Amino acid sequence: MATIQNQLAWKSGDPTPRRRGSTWMRKRAAWLKKQPLCQDCMAEGVVNADDLEVDHVIPLFKGGKDNESNYRTRCSRHHKLKTAQDMGHVIRPEIGVDGWPIE
Ligand SMILES: [Zn+2]
Repeated sequence: MATIQNQLAWKSGDPTPRRRGSTWMRKRAAWLKKQPLCQDCMAEGVVNADDLEVDHVIPLFKGGKDNESNYRTRCSRHHKLKTAQDMGHVIRPEIGVDGWPIE
């Protein structure tokens, strides 16, 4: 169970400060109302509403758009996995516009 102190500590350790503006926080909140569960966990048949983050399917640094067509709700575990893939740590096929690898 996360205490307020833990949550504050987590927020201050957020490694993505460029997304922390009020505009992003509004978009993030609006998206999480629509997609309140980790979409990757759901794909595995698991319902997970803990430690949710809104990820960009195509990273902004790769030219992804900052709008809902490019958002995906991920728990922190799946977000880390995805980020590792984005950084080239795992060899993966391209991700399609629907957020799934192109096979
Ligand atoms: Zn997940």
